[in-house]
Amino acid sequence: MMISALDIFRIGIGPSSSHTVGPMRIAGRFLSHLVKSGLLGRVARLQVFMQGSLAFTGAGHRTPEAIVLGLMGFVPESTDPQDAEVALAALNEAQVLAMPSGLKIGFNPSTDLVFDYDTVPKLHPNGLRLLAMEEDHTVVADLTYYSTGGGFIASQKQLETPVQDDLIGGLSEGPLAFTSAAQLLQHCAAHGLDVAEVLLANEDEKRDRQETLSALDAIAVAMAACVARGLQQKGTLPGGLNVRRRAPDLYEKLTTLPSANERETLFDWLNVYAMAVNEENAAGGRVVTAPTNGAAGIIPAILRFYLLDAKAPKSSVHTYLLTAAAIGILYKQRASISGAEMGCQGEVGVACSMAAGALAAVWGGTPVQVTNAAEIGMEHNLGLTCDPVGGLVQIPCIERNALAAVKAANAARLALQTHEPARVTLDQVIETMRQTGLDMSSKYKETSQGGLAVNVVEC
Ligand code: SF4
Repeated sequence: MMISALDIFRIGIGPSSSHTVGPMRIAGRFLSHLVKSGLLGRVARLQVFMQGSLAFTGAGHRTPEAIVLGLMGFVPESTDPQDAEVALAALNEAQVLAMPSGLKIGFNPSTDLVFDYDTVPKLHPNGLRLLAMEEDHTVVADLTYYSTGGGFIASQKQLETPVQDDLIGGLSEGPLAFTSAAQLLQHCAAHGLDVAEVLLANEDEKRDRQETLSALDAIAVAMAACVARGLQQKGTLPGGLNVRRRAPDLYEKLTTLPSANERETLFDWLNVYAMAVNEENAAGGRVVTAPTNGAAGIIPAILRFYLLDAKAPKSSVHTYLLTAAAIGILYKQRASISGAEMGCQGEVGVACSMAAGALAAVWGGTPVQVTNAAEIGMEHNLGLTCDPVGGLVQIPCIERNALAAVKAANAARLALQTHEPARVTLDQVIETMRQTGLDMSSKYKETSQGGLAVNVVEC
């Protein structure tokens, strides 16, 4: 069952795909369940329990806000961050939840949103249990869902029966469906196609080709807009860590003193574009999951520097995004793109791998070189932990995206300059990441209980 490129790149809001976008979608899905089952009219109270990583880092990732926005009918794709703040302020003031059906119920965020640190969710570390009750506290619905990374969500039933997330677009197998890099390369060789063309053939099964290409254009525009906003927005990021936005100052320096630091300007440009996105993400701005929000700066940084600034044709942008998506799909199918399951290797590591392979494709690499670049992009991120300070997607996340963008370009170069067969295949490195993620202590998997999160004093 093939995941679509449009599931990998989703326009939403920051700061987290698994802790913000996913919970908002889950709340909306729970609401739909109440409507479809005719229960909504009986509901007088809602209570939501954040479990596992959603409890431990939910406050910093704005999970409670995302849940109530979802219950009020907001969806990630169209949420305007300013409208959302107005709605949240109104809710906090009146303690009344206005649902899209017109129903209004009393809702006290401090008691109806529960950080449940004790329940260990069995099926995935990001569990969300939602209860709907009548006036006399009779429970009319009690459902648990999971936010499985990158904005994907699944019900308990879906994870118990091993087919799968809610977000998988189109249920038909593509004509060139692939579940491994080896199979992907076989399709390329057998049909004389590159990686992007193989994925496009599968996308054609889901929708009209022009629709896919227009959606890819919209994704590129959203990524570019996010970079542009991040280059302009000055100030301090929310959350209490007092992290200053650095992208605008660096951008100003690069554009007003273009000859400064000449030999290293490549690093500076990739750094500034990646940080612009991740500072926007940390501020709750509009971001494209690539493949997650925490890792959202890497693919747009390469896109902006090597394609948009270079005025590359639209076809190159399509090749770039489709190739990146094909690689992201392999990680999603064969392992996970959730920091709560894999640590940061599953977020920044995967994004680095996707960007490396996609850039190699744009630079004319063969399908084998593309998968080699993707392999290198992950191999040197293996074991990368997730230990965000204060549970915020700021330290180490923002700089980490900048470093990974540089690493992705380097991985693409290395793959294109290497002509002997790779010693490690993309499938092998994905499996290694999966096993490493399973072995990694939960302290280092988006719980803020280890690493930098315990060694850096919040101020
Ligand atoms: S450390 Fe990595 S995985 Fe963890 S929140 Fe930051 S970007 Fe996401």
